[in-house]
Amino acid sequence: MKHYSGSCHCGRNAFEVLADIDHARKCNCSICSMRGALNFRVLPQQLKLLTPIDDLSVYQWGSFSAKDYFCPNCGVLVFRKPSDLTPAELKLGKQPFSGWAVNLRCLKDIDLSALKLIEIDGASL
Ligand SMILES: [Zn+2]
Repeated sequence: MKHYSGSCHCGRNAFEVLADIDHARKCNCSICSMRGALNFRVLPQQLKLLTPIDDLSVYQWGSFSAKDYFCPNCGVLVFRKPSDLTPAELKLGKQPFSGWAVNLRCLKDIDLSALKLIEIDGASL
């Protein structure tokens, strides 16, 4: 696995990710499409915060089960806690996920154009 360092635009919030990032999740839900999200999911232990999580603001909407963490200074969303599974997803046999969805656009030294894009149909879940 590889270490990536990440931060928001102003640098007030910094973190590290330890992962093999071989794809990006491109979701079409209302918030991901609006911010042009490219996400990658990691387990809780793969994300290491270098600055206090309280320095981030949290945005919740819709079912209020997801948490979007963004910098109150520069406004960049660095990672999010994904929503609980919807009944539709549970029906498809999806397993609950307790980790983080990291905004790949906040990582240094990553070639986003080389990643395989996986389209996620969040809009209909
Ligand atoms: Zn910032």
